[in-house]
Amino acid sequence: MKTKLGEAGIAEYAMPLNIDTESAGSSLALNEFLEKKLTLNFTGQINCVSCNRSIKKSFNQGYCYPCFQKLAECDMCIVKPELCHFDEGTCRDNNFAMNYCNIPHSIYISLTSSVKIGITRGNNEIHRWIDQGAVKAQRLLLVKRRKFAGLIEVELAKSMKDKTDWRKMLKNEYEETSLANLKPKLLDNIRDLLKNNLELDDAEFIDLDTSELEIKYPVIEFPKKVNSFNLDKNPKLEGTLLGIKGQYLIFDTGVINIRKYAGYRVSLEIN
Ligand SMILES: [Zn+2]
Repeated sequence: MKTKLGEAGIAEYAMPLNIDTESAGSSLALNEFLEKKLTLNFTGQINCVSCNRSIKKSFNQGYCYPCFQKLAECDMCIVKPELCHFDEGTCRDNNFAMNYCNIPHSIYISLTSSVKIGITRGNNEIHRWIDQGAVKAQRLLLVKRRKFAGLIEVELAKSMKDKTDWRKMLKNEYEETSLANLKPKLLDNIRDLLKNNLELDDAEFIDLDTSELEIKYPVIEFPKKVNSFNLDKNPKLEGTLLGIKGQYLIFDTGVINIRKYAGYRVSLEIN
């Protein structure tokens, strides 16, 4: 789902329509479907999100096996940026590295199910925060490459979370915390790290003077119990849409992680 932060700080979701019809290229504004009864039906067809070939099973959320093996965006260093091997000359795709990795990256803290540390491309912050269902986010600093951000994240993750408990996130369970108050101490820790870690010798950074951002989600009712749909096991999903948070659609009948089904051809009926 494509995301943006709309008026009044509410996340807005759109589903791109990539099907071979006249609507291809357009997208559905999903916030408008709240309280509507929807039927999603997986047709059984999956197309690789990169090369479009028809596949039986997808890897790494939407890729065919050859693309998963070959593309830089499917490499281990995308999940673990501290393992970036560009400097060793073994990057799968230098062009990708120059456009996605060797560009300024932001290190932030966000409040999802708890306070977590994270990194993302400097121009991608809002999308990342909405994707993870953060209710608050606070930038810490900007470094000039993804690898540096990854190395710093790994160190900070020794004393704080770097993952979200998605069930809690969907139930909207979190402890109210001021992220702005946590920022100075974390910046001190990072400065120490930069001084003492040789690998980070070259990691000039820009201190970001920004305030805490609050994000609201289009949700009428958060689930009390989280049951998730699995389109591979049960291709038909029916329910009334009660909300959207993170990459999840929340129905009265269960939740579905839309990201997990990238490349799946699904029909949508609005009843
Ligand atoms: Zn492919």
